[in-house]
Amino acid sequence: MMHGARKIAVVGAGPSGLYATAELLRRDGGVNVALFDRLPVIGGLARFGVSPDHAQRRRMIAVYDRLAVASGRFDFHGHVDIGGALTHDMLRRHHDAVIYAAGASSDRQLGIAGETLPGSHAATEFVGWYNAHPDHAHRQYRFDHERAVVVGNGNVALDIARMLLLDPRTLRKTDIADHALQALAGSRIREVVVLGRRGPAQAAFTAPELLELCEQDEFDVIVEGVEAPPAAMNGDALRLQLLDELRRRPARHEKRLRLRFQASPTEILGDGAVNAVRIVDNELVLRDGVVVAQATTRSEIIEAGLVLRSIGYRGVPMPGLPFDAAAGVIPNRDGRVIGDDAAPLAGVYVTGWLKRGPRGVIGTNKQCANQTVRAVLDDLHGGALPACAADPDDFAMLLQRHAPERVDHAGWRRIDDHERQLGAAAGRPRIKLAGMNALLAAAAAPAVRAA
Ligand code: NAP
Repeated sequence: MMHGARKIAVVGAGPSGLYATAELLRRDGGVNVALFDRLPVIGGLARFGVSPDHAQRRRMIAVYDRLAVASGRFDFHGHVDIGGALTHDMLRRHHDAVIYAAGASSDRQLGIAGETLPGSHAATEFVGWYNAHPDHAHRQYRFDHERAVVVGNGNVALDIARMLLLDPRTLRKTDIADHALQALAGSRIREVVVLGRRGPAQAAFTAPELLELCEQDEFDVIVEGVEAPPAAMNGDALRLQLLDELRRRPARHEKRLRLRFQASPTEILGDGAVNAVRIVDNELVLRDGVVVAQATTRSEIIEAGLVLRSIGYRGVPMPGLPFDAAAGVIPNRDGRVIGDDAAPLAGVYVTGWLKRGPRGVIGTNKQCANQTVRAVLDDLHGGALPACAADPDDFAMLLQRHAPERVDHAGWRRIDDHERQLGAAAGRPRIKLAGMNALLAAAAAPAVRAA
C-alpha cells in the first residue's frame, strides 16, 4: 500500500468490480484500491454464475486478481457486508470514492398460480446451488421425474438445461459442486423443455451457446412451436441458421432438450408439489414497433416434476443509497450515482449490472467499468472530491469491530489453493467448498492436502 495515495473502495468482487479495480490501478499510479465482498472469495458471478462447463470464462478471476496484486496498491476485504455490518456512510467517510459493483443477486417472478409450490424454483438459486454458492448450497431439488421445464429463453436457461442433461461423467470433469454432481448422477430427468414466450428471432440466448448445443453429442435438441422455418424470419442470421440445422437433425439420443417457442406457462400444477405446467401457445404481434407474445386459446398441460424460472436477474437496493426499484438499478449518469434531485452524490459511483441492469456477457462489464472509472478519476483530479482525511488506523479498527471474521487476500488465496488441492486429489479441476464455515476454516488455516 502506498502512503498518501487516494483511497478508492470497490464493493463487489465479481467481474465488474474486478474490471473497475484493474482499470483504476492501470490508469492512475496514485490510487490504492480496497476491494470488498460479502463472501470470502473473489469472483462473484464468474465463480457462482458461470456454468461449470464454461471453465474458460472463469479464467478472468485469476487474471484480474493477479493484476491487482501485482500493482502493490490493492487490498481484499472478504466476508465484509457493506450495507449490513459496515454501513455505506462508514465506508464513504474513510475513502475518497466508493464504487458499487454489487451486481443483481435476486430473481424476477412470473406471477402465476403455483409458482411457490415445492419443485418450482428460481434459476438464480439453482445456478448458485450447482456452483457451490454458500447461500444456496443447502437447497434440494427433485430429479425423480423424467421431465423438467425451464421458463425463459436466455443463456441462463440454456446453461441450466445443459446441467440437467449432460452425462455425470462430463460434469465430473468440471468444477460443479460435489453435492450437485452427486444429486445429478442419480437424476431420472430425460427431457428438459425450455419455454420461450416469443419466437426464435426474439430469443435472448446468443449464437455461441446455440453452436455449443449443435456441437455436443450427449442429447438431442428439438425445435418446436414455430410454424415457419426460423430462417424465414427476421433476426440474428447465425442463430436462426443454427436453429434450422437443429430442426433437421434426426433423433439419436436417449435424452433431449426441447426448445419450445411461442409458449408461456399460465399455471404450475401440483398437489403439494409440482407435477405439471399448464402452458398456452402465443402468437406474435407488433406493438409500438416491438414483437410481443399474445396468448391464443390453445393450451396444453406438460407433466414435469421440476420447474425452473429463468426470466432474468434483478438488482437489490444497497442500504443508504438511492434505488430505482422498477429497473432494479442504482440511478446514475455515466456511473455517477445521482440523488432524488438528479444531482450526483459526491464520491459515489456504480458499475456493472447494478448500473445498467442484468444484461450482457462478462466482457460487457469491462467497457461499463471503464466509463465509471473515467468519471471517478475526472472527479478526483478535477477537484470535485476533496482528499479523504480519515486516519487509516481508524478504518482498520472499524473493520475489526464490524467485520471480525474478515478474510484478507492471503485468506482468499488459501481457499483457492485448498480447493485446487482437493480437486487434484479427486482428479477434478477443483472442488469448491460449499459452506461458509468450510470457507472460513480454509481461509484461516494453511491448506491441508487431501488424503
Ligand atoms: P435474459 O437474457 O434477460 O433472458 C431472460 C428471458 O426470460 C428472455 O427470453 C425473456 O423473454 C424471458 N422472460 C422474461 N419475462 C418472462 C415472462 N414473464 N414469461 C416468460 N418469459 C419471460 O436473462 P438471463 O438468461 O438470466 O441472462 C442474464 C444475462 O447474463 C444475459 O445478458 C446473458 O446473455 C448473460 N449470460 C451469458 C452467458 C454466456 O455468455 N454463456 C451465460 C449466462 C448468462 P423476452 O425477451 O420475451 O422478455
